[in-house]
Amino acid sequence: MSLRFGLEKFMRYLKPGLLFLLTFFFLSQSSGLFAKPPVVAVSIPPQKEWVLSLMPDAKVVVVMPSHASPELFEPTFSSLKTLFQSDIYVFTGVLHFEEKIKNALKKTPVKKYDVSSGLSLLAHDGHADPHIWMSLDMAIKQVLGMARFFSEHYPDRQQDIQKRASAYVQKLQMLDKRIKRELVIKKPILVYHPVLSYAARDYGFVQLAVEQEGKQPSGKQLKGIINDIKTHQIRYILVIEQTNIDMVNQLAKEQRLSVLHLTVLSEHYLEKMTELADVLIKLSK
Ligand SMILES: [Zn+2]
Repeated sequence: MSLRFGLEKFMRYLKPGLLFLLTFFFLSQSSGLFAKPPVVAVSIPPQKEWVLSLMPDAKVVVVMPSHASPELFEPTFSSLKTLFQSDIYVFTGVLHFEEKIKNALKKTPVKKYDVSSGLSLLAHDGHADPHIWMSLDMAIKQVLGMARFFSEHYPDRQQDIQKRASAYVQKLQMLDKRIKRELVIKKPILVYHPVLSYAARDYGFVQLAVEQEGKQPSGKQLKGIINDIKTHQIRYILVIEQTNIDMVNQLAKEQRLSVLHLTVLSEHYLEKMTELADVLIKLSK
């Protein structure tokens, strides 16, 4: 009797526990709690924040370091090797170095996603302007596109991804609205490397770039730029990507410009775009 009683008591305690364990097991399977974290490779640092905003547990491999120049960067063999272990490669679709990677991934099961698909790109001399991360409006479209792609690839995460996408996009929209509200456009904004073409289109300001089509300006072009600096009484030059710093310093000295350094090619995208927004608002006044 004592044995039977003990067994009954044991079963009575075991049943709810077992039920709990089974429920937990099935829930965790469907919510992906115990699923292997997704491994996503991205071309440039801002895309890392975008991936993590949708899937915070993802392991993200960034191909290009933030100090590199996206137009000149060449991926190393070791960075290619880490790509082969990824589930997905997210690329900009507008950077030269991505061709090499896409070729290397051809015979692998790695899925590829082009964030520029469906964007309205600006072109200079038949080449798409690559700075598609410099526009908040375009960043929102890129994040939403990634959310759709990830939802198809990880269907059990669909709801979670959509919820997170809305929350992150809302932050980008708030910053975009603030710029639209506070940017008072009075004069062109001077940059060394022309990274602001998309932002200029979004907010209706004029970008005055020293570099012409990725090259240093000719003597005649430089004369024209100096003329514009004088006409508009421009006092600042923005340096946003890897740049010929000697030339910037020389020009700044001659024209009495203050040099402002900024990086948006960062894994802290929203933070850096907020810094850029503050600078643009200040410079436009
Ligand atoms: Zn560039």
